[in-house]
Amino acid sequence: MWVSAAFTTRASDGVTRPSPWRDVPDAKWFDWTWQQQNRLTRLHEVETALTLSTDERDAFASTSERFRVSITPYYASLMDPVDPQCPVRQQALPHPSELVVHDFELEDPLAEEAHMPVPGITHRYPDRVLFYVIHHCPVYCRHCTRKRKVSDPTTAAARAQVDEGIAYIARTPSVRDVLLSGGDPLSLSDERLDEILGRLLAIDHVELVRIGTRNPVTLPMRVTDALGDVLRRHRPVYVHTHFNHPAECTPEAARALAVLADAGCVLGNQMVLLRGVNDDAETVRTLNLWLLRHRCRPYYMFQCDMAQGITHFRTPVQTGLDILRALRGWSSGMAVPHFVIDLPGGGGKIELTPDRVLDRDGDWITFQNFQGRPIRFRDVSGRD
Ligand SMILES: *Cc1c(COP(=O)(O)O)cnc(C)c1O
Ligand code: SF4
Repeated sequence: MWVSAAFTTRASDGVTRPSPWRDVPDAKWFDWTWQQQNRLTRLHEVETALTLSTDERDAFASTSERFRVSITPYYASLMDPVDPQCPVRQQALPHPSELVVHDFELEDPLAEEAHMPVPGITHRYPDRVLFYVIHHCPVYCRHCTRKRKVSDPTTAAARAQVDEGIAYIARTPSVRDVLLSGGDPLSLSDERLDEILGRLLAIDHVELVRIGTRNPVTLPMRVTDALGDVLRRHRPVYVHTHFNHPAECTPEAARALAVLADAGCVLGNQMVLLRGVNDDAETVRTLNLWLLRHRCRPYYMFQCDMAQGITHFRTPVQTGLDILRALRGWSSGMAVPHFVIDLPGGGGKIELTPDRVLDRDGDWITFQNFQGRPIRFRDVSGRD
């Protein structure tokens, strides 16, 4: 697991701030609007907080046109100021490998645009839809699967488009589960979110709404008590967070999760397996045990997909299987996520699990237990 002195002192107390913000009073630092207004988006701004390597500086110049850079001061404060290998830094700072083009990479790897009955809704599975309500995020993740769309002002989900999406859901009785996504739905105002949740849950056949958000990780100040009051009015609301590394597990993030859980939301984490960031069992275990302590259940561990410019983040499929093998039995079962690949072309999600069958002999199956021991189990044919 990646460890640095900077990480242990910074992330654990959540107070140490890089030099440009050393004298910023708490009243501003913990105000999400201040964090939004002071995001680092240009090279010279980033360089006030971090020392970039030559590679990182070159990558910034050549990639930020294609996919915007945006980093909240809070998220920057979790980064190692000098080490390009820092797991937080790798998720938000451009890397030269983003420009390497592979022929198997896809612009819209999940064919989300192809399964849109109306703009802004992907309806792939029978009973649920993905509903894009905004295209902004406080921090743009370099591994984002929707790189081509998020951060692009010309694709912003206008009010009319959201209305059209709600109308589609209202006239489609098979939709019982609506997953708000984007971009980050918490980039909407409390009032707007209140209105959208109210209108969706007023539809008879909509049984639950989910919010996919990375704000608890990149801008936890956004999760205010006032937001908690909005969410408390609507239920059931499920919140999918996107924590990827223990360095993101700060007191401020813990507070955000507590507000969400106290508001009655059911929390689940969707991590993405990223090479050199979280692709080992110990990192995933540490992360997941922290999440459980904060009432957030690890839900998915995603295989990084075939989107353009993120191949350098991808791990072999076997890595995910090895991580599951190291978790099952050795930690609470609740700490073991579903390992899924979202197949290209809109094939949908599939789950992978390590193969535990060593041998079959008639009705006798030999399994391998969590310690690696072979153990025989007699199956039944249904006629015994
Ligand atoms: C991932 C996804 C969902 C939600 O899937 P669950 O497995 O139910 O969490 C819904 N629609 C689309 C298009 C998705 O990609
Ligand atoms: S928060 Fe989500 S949608 Fe936004 S850039 Fe990151 S992965 Fe993409």
